[in-house]
This record gives sequence, structure tokens and C-alpha cells, in this order.
Amino acid sequence: MLITHDTECALGILVDLLNTAPEVGGFEQLSSLVALDAFVARQDLSELDAVTAADLAAVQQLRGRLREIFTAASTERAAELVNVLVASVNATPRLTEHDGHGWHMHYFAPHAALADHLAAELGMALGLILMAGERERLRRCEAPDCARVFVDLSRNRSRRYCDSRTCGNRMHVAAYRARQRSAADDAAVTLGVS
Ligand SMILES: [Zn+2]
Ligand SMILES: [Zn+2]
Repeated sequence: MLITHDTECALGILVDLLNTAPEVGGFEQLSSLVALDAFVARQDLSELDAVTAADLAAVQQLRGRLREIFTAASTERAAELVNVLVASVNATPRLTEHDGHGWHMHYFAPHAALADHLAAELGMALGLILMAGERERLRRCEAPDCARVFVDLSRNRSRRYCDSRTCGNRMHVAAYRARQRSAADDAAVTLGVS
């Protein structure tokens, strides 16, 4: 699989962003500049100026466009949307070396507004996933009451839940209890108890 560390990092940012949406968590998690600042800080985004109210609205809007690509019904549709997105912000590859990260590519213009920065980086990361033929790794959590998305980077593409510490565990416990129940039922049948 041709997914580099940089692409993996960008996909992590993408998933974090998509999962802040109201349709995922039941409320808008990017509801204020404080929340947007916290997102920028936890994702350690570089070459950014201070965020403003205009950035907040633009990032919320971009999030919807990215979700459309993430959940597109076909690769053709996803590719079309990626092309429109990266062209709209004039994404341009630029080699850079900063903060001890070694040489890597930035696609956003220096000091681009936050939404443009994210559109270039996350749009390119999605493009690289399509190029690698790995679109099936863009997943939605299979837990019935969970709308979170994730990128399955496991070797055998077997990941089903957004986060093994929460949904994964919860589903495993439910499956275990169901097995216990059916074992108990079998035992009851054998003993002629109802
Ligand atoms: Zn960088
Ligand atoms: Zn989940």
C-alpha cells in the first residue's frame, strides 16, 4: 500500500474534523473559536495565522464537502469532488522541512486561511487514497448507534469500529453476552427447563 506517514497524518486530521459534525455527535463540536483553536492545536497545524469567525464558518462548510468525498458512492464521484476541491484552493506541492519532521510536501499556500490549508492537505490525502485503490478503507463505524468515521489502516483491512476503546469494546462485550445467553439457553433446553 502506498500510503505514506504524511498521508496517514492528514487522514487523522480528516477523521478528527469529520467527527466534529453535529450529525455525528449530536451537537456541533466546532461551535466556537475556542473549539477551533483546540482543533488546530491538537492537530499541530503549521504555518497558520490566528483563526477568525470567518475561518470557523469556512471550516464547517469544508467539513461537509470532505464528508461528501469520504462517503461518495463511487470512486469516479469521489475523484471528481477531490479535483474540484483541490483546484478551488490552488493546491500546489511544495517541499519543506520544519520542526524536525524531515523533508515532506505541503500542498497549501504559505499562511493560507485555515479552510484553504485543510482543503489542500485533506483533499490531497483523499486523492492519494483513491490513487492507491484504497477507498474501501474509508469507513463508518459499524456500531449501530455510532455515526463516527475512521480510516482503516490495519494490514488486513479488518477494522470495524471507530475506536477499539469505546465502540469496539462495547460491541465485543455485547457479542460475548449474546454468546453466554445462547449457551445458557442451550443448557436449559438440554435440561428440559424453559
Ligand atoms: Zn509540514
Ligand atoms: Zn463507533
